[in-house]
Amino acid sequence: LAHAPYSKFKVGAALLAADGQLYTGCNVESASYSLTVCAERVALLKAASSGVRKIKSIAVVADTEEPVPPCGACRQMISEFGEEGTEVISANLQGKAQVFTIKELLPTPFDPSFLPG
Ligand SMILES: [Zn+2]
Repeated sequence: LAHAPYSKFKVGAALLAADGQLYTGCNVESASYSLTVCAERVALLKAASSGVRKIKSIAVVADTEEPVPPCGACRQMISEFGEEGTEVISANLQGKAQVFTIKELLPTPFDPSFLPG
């Protein structure tokens, strides 16, 4: 369940790992606002802590008029756990949805090839 006492903006996420397992997440806010973690990254961290290293798709859902796409930080993390064709589904509670690939949302990601060594 989303913990969004400050923004009141509740977001949920679900990801499908390459091994077929489903992981869910919600946004978790902090009184020190910058520590807030988005639903997508909570789902990714839960999956990663369970040993997942590749995901097939991730969905993000919020009670918004238009489907809300992942923020830049989440796009970065999704790209690291996905592949170019990894699907990102944005949806609202009315079932309106948009499907992107992570490559469309983050065409030039920062990846390990830029790291030294
Ligand atoms: Zn985010």
